[in-house]
Amino acid sequence: MTEPLSATCHCGAVRLTLPGDAAGVLACHCGDCRKMHGNFNAFLAAPRVEITVEGEAALVWYQSSPDSRRAFCGTCGARVVKEQTAAGRWLVSAGLIDGPTGRHITRNLWAQSKSDWYALPETHA
Ligand SMILES: [Zn+2]
Ligand SMILES: [Zn+2]
Repeated sequence: MTEPLSATCHCGAVRLTLPGDAAGVLACHCGDCRKMHGNFNAFLAAPRVEITVEGEAALVWYQSSPDSRRAFCGTCGARVVKEQTAAGRWLVSAGLIDGPTGRHITRNLWAQSKSDWYALPETHA
């Protein structure tokens, strides 16, 4: 997968381009993701420096843990990204990717923390 992936929030104010070799889709079932996404968090991960952002001023940041902050679009409320600050890594919500991704969920993270109202998604390499 080498084609860059394009991602937009619901209102289009925020537009990202991810490298084609971004990791994932990964599914995180931790308590923080559940509270903030209303469900598990499916995302693609890439170094911040490899992601292009248009409309970054629309992002509203929230420090969700000492090591991480998360951003949503201040206009439409779409959850856009979790930043692992020290690692310089962005985890971009998979639902924002436009068009077919050609990908599957490859790993479940924090499976032991998942809610009891759904089954873990199947994973495929
Ligand atoms: Zn938006
Ligand atoms: Zn999580």
